[in-house]
Amino acid sequence: MVKKTVLVCIILFSFVFSAFSVTYVVGTEASFPPFEYVEGEEFVGFDMDLIREIGKMYGFDVEIRDISFDSLIPSLITGNINIIVAGMTITEERERVVDFTIPYFSADQSIMVRSGESTNLTVLFMKPKIGVQTGTTGDLWVTENLVEAGFLPKANLIRYDTFNFAVRDLINKNLDAIVLDNPVAERFTKTDPVEIVGIIKTNENYGMAVAPGNEDLLNMLNEGITKLQETGKMDELIGKYFK
Ligand code: GLN
Repeated sequence: MVKKTVLVCIILFSFVFSAFSVTYVVGTEASFPPFEYVEGEEFVGFDMDLIREIGKMYGFDVEIRDISFDSLIPSLITGNINIIVAGMTITEERERVVDFTIPYFSADQSIMVRSGESTNLTVLFMKPKIGVQTGTTGDLWVTENLVEAGFLPKANLIRYDTFNFAVRDLINKNLDAIVLDNPVAERFTKTDPVEIVGIIKTNENYGMAVAPGNEDLLNMLNEGITKLQETGKMDELIGKYFK
């Protein structure tokens, strides 16, 4: 009898508890190491740790959804995801449709090529095949400064859903260069036969994003980022992922 009562209590308690625990669906594109990538079956990386730490602070669970980068904003707006955490640069154009947190990381673009071929920056003006991830600031830079400026035939700009395929094509000589965020290029130089031949100073800042008007969630994320910065946790994570 006592056993039964205890069991009923446990069931009731977990029911009530689960009714109060909140899960936020976090959208990312997991081919962006060391910010987000897959290890075994797990989504790991700097961004993943950041949002999980904020979840711990404010008592919410995180469910990661891996989708193509250019689908992140549409998914946020339609409510399929609650937060974007994807090394996403705060840009004026994006700010018109979503709300960004305060910046939590800075980056520039870089030009990445196969290593050991003595390629230099002039590669950009030799009508190379350049790979980018669709809808990223790297895509935007190449489109505006090379294609629209008349230096690169449109067909030489190749857009990918994931950087994993772009890097594979670079190594297989289907591409001559990739333009992507420098912290991610740096990371690829440690895991693949690639090197950086130039940095394009774009002065980008990463922010997390929520649907417009979702003020409570935005305030919580901003407070969380500030706390991680003040407590030194942010520096600890930077040390963990950017050695
Ligand atoms: N920071 C770049 C952007 O926002 C790239 C992000 C990414 O590929 N995950 O466009």
